[in-house]
Amino acid sequence: MNKVIIIGAGIIGMLTARLLSKAGVSVTIIEQGYVGQESSWAGGGILSPLYPWRYSDPVTHLAKWGQKYYPALLADIHFNSGVDPEYMQSGLLYLDIEDELSQALQWEKKLGYDFESLSGDELKSVEPGLGQFINEPDKKGWFTQSIGQVRNPRLVRALREDLLALGVTIEQQTQAISFIKEAGAVKGVLTDKGSFYGDHIVVAGGAWSAQLLEKWVKAPKIAPVKGQMIVFKARPGVVSRIVLSKGRYVIPRKDGRVVLGSTLEFEAFDKTTTDDVLNELKQEACRIIPDLKNYPVEKQWAGLRPGSIDGVPYIGEHPELKNLYLNAGHFRNGVVIGLASCQLLVNQLLGQKNIVDPSPYLLTEERLVNDSKEIDLRTAI
Ligand SMILES: Cc1cc2nc3c(=O)[nH]c(=O)nc-3n(C[C@H](O)[C@H](O)[C@H](O)COP(=O)(O)OP(=O)(O)OC[C@H]3O[C@@H](n4cnc5c(N)ncnc54)[C@H](O)[C@@H]3O)c2cc1C
Repeated sequence: MNKVIIIGAGIIGMLTARLLSKAGVSVTIIEQGYVGQESSWAGGGILSPLYPWRYSDPVTHLAKWGQKYYPALLADIHFNSGVDPEYMQSGLLYLDIEDELSQALQWEKKLGYDFESLSGDELKSVEPGLGQFINEPDKKGWFTQSIGQVRNPRLVRALREDLLALGVTIEQQTQAISFIKEAGAVKGVLTDKGSFYGDHIVVAGGAWSAQLLEKWVKAPKIAPVKGQMIVFKARPGVVSRIVLSKGRYVIPRKDGRVVLGSTLEFEAFDKTTTDDVLNELKQEACRIIPDLKNYPVEKQWAGLRPGSIDGVPYIGEHPELKNLYLNAGHFRNGVVIGLASCQLLVNQLLGQKNIVDPSPYLLTEERLVNDSKEIDLRTAI
């Protein structure tokens, strides 16, 4: 294989490009906007699904593989690019999970995570900033020390620098419109800036992937799911663990800023933020870490997750068009599961041994029929 064209410069397109380029393949990425400015910029960067026991094995297997290999990869990208993606093993503290504890304990036993039960006093020593337990000393929490995080805007910037140094070509403000075909195979991409030719085409267009595919081939359900976030300009030490409570989480960054997320809004391609959500997120942040009321909200933003059924991404060749590959639909977990999903796709492209069983992710006819456009993602996660 000589040349691959990748559509989309989010984390998925960039990690795929990096692996291919390191294997000696010439890679061009086509990006309709600017590198890493969509979901991959907007996310929280937690290197774990939020309530991991709620997910199916296919998501868990990718997450577990990514958790193992991320620290070394991030150190390498930092070294090569000079941009620190700010990997921190801050651990993940779960509150209010009593109702699903038996499921969580089974998950821990099966997968061997370090999932530790903490009493109210222990919780306070692990995270002194917690507010919830002041009047409830008997309440418990659970802690997974091994979970890390990255700072998304820095990760995408580091990846971009690394790719440029590797010789990957990135065409920004260039929108892929259709595929150039010959004898049942794809051999190029037609864009608003001209044609690009390659032996293989990889669609890594995040929430926009199905929109591009469905005009030309059958597309699975991949739809935008908006998430609004806020960041407090706090100081180091206000909170030092990722804390998850009732679907909301706080993420402490290295410089003291604290991110609070996130909503799940099943809308169209709309990234508007609202005051109602701002107020609700502020309130939730202060419920979890009361000291945050003393710090200003610096920014509010929204990103569009590539929503898919059960959050299981589509990784593989399209059955209708030879050499057309898809790597999309990572939903809420594209950072943590993205590394393994890109490795799996590259294994297929280069005919290498797969890192995990590829079958649950393949774009089979059956999956294309079952995961149809009519399915409401709210009922499918
Ligand atoms: C609020 C929020 C919080 C999140 N938190 C976490 C978390 O803590 N941990 C985690 O693991 N995941 C998290 N996620 C999910 C994660 O961010 C996504 O799953 C991941 O970023 C998806 O990456 P992607 O490359 O597929 O998509 P994107 O980053 O959206 O990239 C797709 C790119 O393709 C481009 N594109 C699309 N169509 C075309 C076209 N026709 N031509 C050219 N370019 C095109 C787009 O412009 C875009 O740049 C979060 C997401 C959000 C929104």
